Amino acid sequence: METTKTINPATGEQIATYNRISETEAKNKVAKANEVYLTWKHKSFEERAKLMHELANILEENKEEYAQLATKEMGKIIGQSIGEIEKCAKICRYYADNATTLLANENVDTEASKSYVTFQPIGVLLAVMPWNFPFYQVIRFAAPAIMAGNTGVLKHASNVQGCAFALEEAFEKAGFPKGIFTNLNIGSDAVKAVIENKHIKAVTLTGSEPAGRSVASIAGENLKKTVMELGGSDAYIILEDAAIEEATDLATFGRLQNNGQTCIAAKRFVVLDEIYDDFLEKFTEKMKAKKMGEPMDEETFLGPMAREDLRDELHEQVEKSISQGARLVLGGNVPDGKGAYYPATILAEVEPGMEAFDNELFGPVASVIKAKDEQHAIDLANNSSFGLGSGVITGDNERGEKIALQLEAGNSFVNKLVVSDPRLPFGGIKNSGYGRELSSYGIREFTNTKSIWID
Ligand code: NAP
Repeated sequence: METTKTINPATGEQIATYNRISETEAKNKVAKANEVYLTWKHKSFEERAKLMHELANILEENKEEYAQLATKEMGKIIGQSIGEIEKCAKICRYYADNATTLLANENVDTEASKSYVTFQPIGVLLAVMPWNFPFYQVIRFAAPAIMAGNTGVLKHASNVQGCAFALEEAFEKAGFPKGIFTNLNIGSDAVKAVIENKHIKAVTLTGSEPAGRSVASIAGENLKKTVMELGGSDAYIILEDAAIEEATDLATFGRLQNNGQTCIAAKRFVVLDEIYDDFLEKFTEKMKAKKMGEPMDEETFLGPMAREDLRDELHEQVEKSISQGARLVLGGNVPDGKGAYYPATILAEVEPGMEAFDNELFGPVASVIKAKDEQHAIDLANNSSFGLGSGVITGDNERGEKIALQLEAGNSFVNKLVVSDPRLPFGGIKNSGYGRELSSYGIREFTNTKSIWID
């Protein structure tokens, strides 16, 4: 029987082994999810909300335990793991309280005696999810989708299988009927058969570009809708009027949070020539000062990466960038000893055509890029195959807003790191994917937008 092994990236030690389910077992679980859907879709928002609030309570009551599990499986520092679980509880409450409004019928004036748009659930959804926010990414999909009357099956990243089962259990503890949210412990090679299953009505994937391309094309063959939340190489423009202290604080936190493994992390820092040297000096000082170590230790700011193979891949990208002319200012070495650690690293004088400019660096490596003026900075920021998040750091909000409107990305923030918020749509353009999660736009992605006409 095939198994999934989870490994603590801080120590390299195995945590647990999970037996993968067979194709028939997966089929049975999807059939059960469909059976439950047939009654769940008729429940009122109030009935669904009661259970969603209960799920929020369960998450909060057990946040220490869930956070420790996440940290053990993927290396996030413990304080940030606790923050992740708290954010999940907030999202559950937000959709419990707001789904009625977000999905309210919309009356449309026509010649009919009555005509309106209504948003109905569509059935069982497949969610293919990544390890980097092992609880949050799942809840970001599940809370709105389930409040809308759908049910969900999850194919989680193999290295966070413990988190996947903990989530399934949390739904059951909250009182949701069995089958509303089901973990399928399958490998990525078994995803195709699940997408093809007649009960699966749509697929959402959060992960890398190659995984997105594969899943979207199988779903396309089967004419099933997809939402794709893929990678990014977010550019932050640091204008010459930015306060260096604040700009470098944001840059340091933005690049190192979640051990550098966040889709919307600040990855390319496009700095105007006038302040380039000052920015680089202060940024280097602050990145250097952050303590790397055991993720359970509260003093640690930078834990290990999630897996050794990902760390080795990142190191290769750093070496390639240096061989292409980038200047290594900090870090850039694989530390001796156990664990998937990689130090805070800065590459300067990064330019288009270099690995660090053209591709996503999914770890604690910052690329610093020099721009000769504002227009050049905008052009550099937009010179990317990705378009997820972006930012502008400036002393002038109006100027920042004008630039934000020109950035090719799904989210552009001024003087703040991009962050997902349940009240605002979240997603990307270009190779960062399509479709939206969160807000009215996200919750409606997996509904039938239906026109009703009464003559
Ligand atoms: P990944 O390797 O693409 O894995 C994501 C999920 O897809 C996992 O469950 C994985 O399963 C599965 N998978 C991989 N290849 C597949 C295939 N060919 N067919 C079906 N399923 C497949 O990504 P990751 O390393 O977990 O996450 C990092 C990436 O996700 C980064 O690029 C990051 O920017 C992106 N991300 C984007 C967002 C967003 O909101 N836009 C949020 C977070 C992360 P296995 O683990 O079994 O391989």
